[in-house]
Amino acid sequence: MRPRGLPDKIARNSVEAPSVPHPMRFEEDAIVLGGGLTGLSAAYTFSSKGVSPQVFEADDTVGGLSKTIIRDGYRFDIGGHRFHARDKKVEAFVRGLMGDELLNVSRKSRIYMNGRFFDYPLKPLNSLSGLGPLTVLRVIADYCLERAKGLFKADPGDSLEDWVVRNFGRKMFEIYFKGYSEKVWGIPCNRISRSWVERRIEGLSLATVIKNAFSKAVGRDVPTLIDDFLYPALGIGRISDRLAEEIGHLGSVHTSSPVKAIHHDGKSITSVVAGEKKASADAYVSTISLTAFVNMMDPAPPDEVLEAASGLGYRDLVIAAIAVDRPVVTNLSWIYVPDKDFPFGRIHEPKVWSSAMAPEGKTLLVVEYFCFQNEGVWNNTDEELIETSVKGLERLGFLKADEVSGGWVLRVPGAYPLFEIGYEEKTRVILDYLSGFDNLKVAGRAGRFAYLNMDHAIAAGREAALESFATLARAFVKKQAQPSRTDPL
Ligand SMILES: Cc1cc2nc3c(=O)[nH]c(=O)nc-3n(C[C@H](O)[C@H](O)[C@H](O)COP(=O)(O)OP(=O)(O)OC[C@H]3O[C@@H](n4cnc5c(N)ncnc54)[C@H](O)[C@@H]3O)c2cc1C
Repeated sequence: MRPRGLPDKIARNSVEAPSVPHPMRFEEDAIVLGGGLTGLSAAYTFSSKGVSPQVFEADDTVGGLSKTIIRDGYRFDIGGHRFHARDKKVEAFVRGLMGDELLNVSRKSRIYMNGRFFDYPLKPLNSLSGLGPLTVLRVIADYCLERAKGLFKADPGDSLEDWVVRNFGRKMFEIYFKGYSEKVWGIPCNRISRSWVERRIEGLSLATVIKNAFSKAVGRDVPTLIDDFLYPALGIGRISDRLAEEIGHLGSVHTSSPVKAIHHDGKSITSVVAGEKKASADAYVSTISLTAFVNMMDPAPPDEVLEAASGLGYRDLVIAAIAVDRPVVTNLSWIYVPDKDFPFGRIHEPKVWSSAMAPEGKTLLVVEYFCFQNEGVWNNTDEELIETSVKGLERLGFLKADEVSGGWVLRVPGAYPLFEIGYEEKTRVILDYLSGFDNLKVAGRAGRFAYLNMDHAIAAGREAALESFATLARAFVKKQAQPSRTDPL
């Protein structure tokens, strides 16, 4: 129920973790490293419960991977970000936070293979006509064979290849999964951990896909099959902007403040150096990358922790946004391009998600290159990347070069934790070590080296803040026990 007397804006936020300034302001405070969705959600939760958070963000804007870039009236995300939450409390929270800024968008995607566009995810009738009946028979036979194997050997193996072959059959793996996965990750599918694909398309198999084609209800809870999603009219970055606005009630968000050092005494974090400032607090939540965190610790952690961190890799991303003098080019949410003849892997047109994402009469096509930092396309000049993107888009039939009025390139280091087989053990070594610090919680995508979507990031940030309240209570008790200067001797 809406609390009486509260302005609309504040009442809207009282859905789950109300941002209403807490009636009591505690002396204890918190520091949050990283101003992406996880860090901002943690800070929001602290602030809504009367604890002052300070957020330190390296970039000059908040949002991390979930930000929206604005150039000459065009807006684009770091790869189109749809919002969908399986946890209805998280959805209600975001709806409350964003109010009427949210649009309901229908998803319609295509995958480009063998010179043709197919529905994505797979629709049996569409693929039947595209692949030919013989291939379809082979797909079904391979799938049945794998189901039979599963009766004798429950565990399919450790890799993405093992898992997909077990759940879809080898032919489907080769047709739909191999090319795109290898393009995204840059390593062979038999070196990619199955835990990534398992979580991403949890609950999905060839049988589920086929059932979903005939009954929408089957795919309702499988994230990969969701047909509709929420999207803020001015881009996904608005969710972070709104969180940062609300944190302002009690806390502060310092952008352009990279954390450079993390001091500790072996049991607790004692202070951080961010930008030119040294700051300390009763509780710390880190959402910056695990690798960066341990490398900034002073004194340095044990060798085995540093060694584990040096074994964790990241996949990087280059985005090229191409401005086109046309009101709209496609009616698609995403276009996947596994084909090796094209150097990019995915395309989206922000204007299809929200008409406010480009000036009237114009549109933008955003092309994603999955790559490793300082290698290949990463080192290309912006002009080269724009030219390559325009040529690729022209070959796919989306535009003509003379319709292009400009373009922008963005390099995104560490966009994806690289889930190479063995990453779980390395991550465990680091997390075990960090769990020994009594006033530290680590959360988030790079923060825990985990496959997180935005809904998970929001939940993880909130959880990290709530878990910190035991630490804050201990700090409170300790301060009460210390004689104040006005106490009689
Ligand atoms: C291409 C792409 C597409 C995606 N699409 C979707 C989608 O459609 N739907 C969805 O739900 N999710 C999507 N995601 C996932 C989503 O982006 C993440 O789940 C979410 O943004 C993670 O938030 P985070 O705060 O944990 O991490 P980040 O966004 O990485 O935030 C970490 C923050 O820490 C800051 N930082 C790093 N080092 C320092 C330092 N030393 N000092 C201070 N600050 C520092 C960074 O600048 C950053 O702002 C996508 C991700 C990518 C890469």
